[in-house]
Amino acid sequence: MQPFLDGLRQLLGPADLLTDPADMAPYLTDWRRMFSGPALAILRPGSTEQVSAAVGLCAQHGVAIVPQGGNTGLAGGATPQGRAPQVVLSLARMTAIGTPDPIGMVIEAQAGCILQRVKEVAADCGRQLPISLAAEGSATVGGVIATNAGGVNVLRYGMARDFVLGLEVVLPDGTVVKGLKPLRKDNAGFDWKHLFIGSEGAFGIVTAAVLRLTPATRHRSVALLSVQDLPAAIRLLGLFQDRIGETLSAFELISADAIRLVETQCGLGAPVSGGSWFLLVEAASSLDGLPAAVQATLEAAYEAGLLQDGTLAASEQQAQSLWALREHVTEAESRCGKSLKHDVSLPLRRMGAFLESIQARLAGLAPAARLNIFGHLGDGNLHVNVILGDTPLSIASRITGMVHDLVAEAGGSISAEHGLGQYRLADWQRLTLKTERDLAIDIKRAMDPKGLMNPGKAVPGTSHRQ
Ligand SMILES: Cc1cc2nc3c(=O)[nH]c(=O)nc-3n(C[C@H](O)[C@H](O)[C@H](O)COP(=O)(O)OP(=O)(O)OC[C@H]3O[C@@H](n4cnc5c(N)ncnc54)[C@H](O)[C@@H]3O)c2cc1C
Repeated sequence: MQPFLDGLRQLLGPADLLTDPADMAPYLTDWRRMFSGPALAILRPGSTEQVSAAVGLCAQHGVAIVPQGGNTGLAGGATPQGRAPQVVLSLARMTAIGTPDPIGMVIEAQAGCILQRVKEVAADCGRQLPISLAAEGSATVGGVIATNAGGVNVLRYGMARDFVLGLEVVLPDGTVVKGLKPLRKDNAGFDWKHLFIGSEGAFGIVTAAVLRLTPATRHRSVALLSVQDLPAAIRLLGLFQDRIGETLSAFELISADAIRLVETQCGLGAPVSGGSWFLLVEAASSLDGLPAAVQATLEAAYEAGLLQDGTLAASEQQAQSLWALREHVTEAESRCGKSLKHDVSLPLRRMGAFLESIQARLAGLAPAARLNIFGHLGDGNLHVNVILGDTPLSIASRITGMVHDLVAEAGGSISAEHGLGQYRLADWQRLTLKTERDLAIDIKRAMDPKGLMNPGKAVPGTSHRQ
């Protein structure tokens, strides 16, 4: 491998080819320390040309590539897996952002740009990029696109896929495909960019994107509400959709236990009591009259007997402290030790029975474990996380298998937004129709015949095709 590493050093310069174990360590494990794996080197190219040349060298020497952005992913997709010779290719140095076009409502950004920074640049010209996740201070444009990230505003604006107008990618042989068109309409043939969005680096490397912006909203109303049970939460969602649906930006569900965890672990206080579920609801609009419309909707909800308690933020500061409760759920969970993350989506009408089954089966399988449930109810997306407590790690995969089996029985998906990565790949293979699996393998084979792009993630190896 020495000629290979020498070639890379010549291409990238010694500072951006890391081979010292201490320098490489942060790139070889995910942020939760659930996954880690070996690599020959870490590559930190600074331009699309360097990415292309480095990928070409890897192809020539049969070395696999693990693309990495902010390393905030929750499925082990950016961490090396297996023992085949591989490198991690970090996009962290590619951070250029173009001048936004506020009338055309587009912005161009390189793959290593931090999502929050792109949002700030858009906001400076009176527009917004409403992809909103708690990890946006570290997640990158390339990672967000490669995972087709969701977040709290999907209900209104859609997932990352809905914001990508143009894409520049480097194919597994090093070829650059420049598709950075800022067009909202382009039906001139097959829209290949969608192959890369959500493909978790299995087909190529995203190096830049043109993203769609939306008008900024001038007013927002944020409420924290509590309800007795899940059917009441779902009926409340229907009521909001009927009355102010076009302004509804977030409808987040948090279990009372999760709120308690935030209070005890993070020292925050919820100004609302009662009920077994809490809802964090946000509506936004540029038109005056939003607060009155939200107030009237809440009164209707009380009259319909749907609410136990609730508060409507009277200031931006109060809105932020209500959102802080939702945003601290993950941190509160991580302060309770090891947990298993399940990111599932289900038809709303199946959700209640699904949660009852999970509770009953978990009590039998792992009595020391407890559920931490929250998520994007408006999208049918729940995070059904299991805090392990004294539960032996050896039964972790049985717990996850049990959750995923119940999801499949309910007609849901085992990954609503976090992707398969290496964490969910085996369960996806187990629970997915053979025709669907084979289609994924055939596309992988066509895109990456040598199997060098992010092996062991997102798509089964071609040997799984029978
Ligand atoms: C606190 C917290 C909250 C989160 N909330 C959400 C949420 O609400 N919704 C949601 O969807 N996700 C959420 N996530 C998950 C994560 O932030 C997203 O998946 C994010 O999109 C990952 O971006 P990244 O740059 O960190 O990618 P990484 O973690 O570095 O990589 C993720 C995957 O994309 C691939 N990849 C990265 N960059 C490229 C590239 N340029 N080209 C090709 N492939 C690439 C990697 O190989 C890997 O498979 C959350 C994570 C945390 C820690």
